[in-house]
Amino acid sequence: MVALNHADFLALWETGHRLHPLDRGLLAIQASLNPDSQESPVADWPLGRRNRALAELRTLYFGPRLEGWTVCAECGEKLEFELDCRALAETPEASADQRISVEGSIFRLPTSRDLARIATESDPSQAAMLLLECCAVYPKDTSASVEGKKETAHTTIWSWPPERIDKVAEQMVQADPLAEISLGFDCPLCLHTSEETLDLADFLWAEIEFRARRLLAEVHALASAYGWAESAILALSDVRRANYLQMVQA
Ligand SMILES: [Zn+2]
Repeated sequence: MVALNHADFLALWETGHRLHPLDRGLLAIQASLNPDSQESPVADWPLGRRNRALAELRTLYFGPRLEGWTVCAECGEKLEFELDCRALAETPEASADQRISVEGSIFRLPTSRDLARIATESDPSQAAMLLLECCAVYPKDTSASVEGKKETAHTTIWSWPPERIDKVAEQMVQADPLAEISLGFDCPLCLHTSEETLDLADFLWAEIEFRARRLLAEVHALASAYGWAESAILALSDVRRANYLQMVQA
């Protein structure tokens, strides 16, 4: 991961501004990859690998300590949380080739491209089934055929009992533990316990947005005072820019 300079950072924000939230995270990772790297498209990475890269980016641009809050679903109390992105970035990553086998059916790990495919499905259980269908390698893949069965992924998965579906889900979590970042909350007021998923891409983008707007405000202040070009102001080091701003605002 390579940190972007201020001009490229603003360009990233400008491009991502128009995109679906899912694509913004991918764009941020892609923009910060070493240009010489021979990586596969980020959309095809297992979700845990994507989240790991987002945690690295978060550390690179904003430091490792991530603080946020949610609201207790029972009593409305504000519940704060804190997370060290370095710990997330150290989680072992799953390989894109990794396969899961449950009772003769074979699945690959979900990717961002799969999430994009199911993004319009509003029913969570339907979305989960569609995701499994996207990830089914066998029976789609004849090279992995078991006992000569010729059923399609569709007819098999949708008729599966819930326990078998749960087994696939459990194995996917084991194979790619960072694919979903769950946070546990214990409400100190009503003692309600809950679990929420942290969307790192959303979180990071909100911070990118905030920093981009601050940079624009700083460019505006310095350009108005000195008549300098945007590119010249963005090329200043943080220390110089902060000092000029102090003098302008004094
Ligand atoms: Zn509560």
